[in-house]
Amino acid sequence: MTRTGGCQCGAVRYECAGEPFALFICHCTECRKQSASAFGMSLPAPREGFRITKGEPKFWSRRGDSGLQINGAFCPHCGSRLWDEPQDAPDIVVLKGGSLDQPIDMAKAIHIWTSRKLPGMIIPPDAAQFPEEPG
Ligand SMILES: [Zn+2]
Ligand SMILES: [Zn+2]
Repeated sequence: MTRTGGCQCGAVRYECAGEPFALFICHCTECRKQSASAFGMSLPAPREGFRITKGEPKFWSRRGDSGLQINGAFCPHCGSRLWDEPQDAPDIVVLKGGSLDQPIDMAKAIHIWTSRKLPGMIIPPDAAQFPEEPG
């Protein structure tokens, strides 16, 4: 299934033909800022089959805990974050869950950095979860 996605204003659009490997819900403070919400949703997918179908994103870079650079694509008009390109994994693109048009099955999410989750945030007891980043 080819997934499609884009920013809030529609200026930047993409499609992704490859199947995402997983859905990570990250409760770390970086992901909270990145998403301006309670957590970040990341779907690592094969870079092959991913392409921009409309517009031109801008990139913002930061160094992760590993010291490696993460380049985050966002819409220059509305500011929505769309995907990340990890420097150490050039064959992978990490889609930001909320940018996808198709619904995501949250039941399969792997929760990480649960040690940083917001007070009152309830994670389903049968969900895979890690207090920090899994090794
Ligand atoms: Zn936009
Ligand atoms: Zn995070």
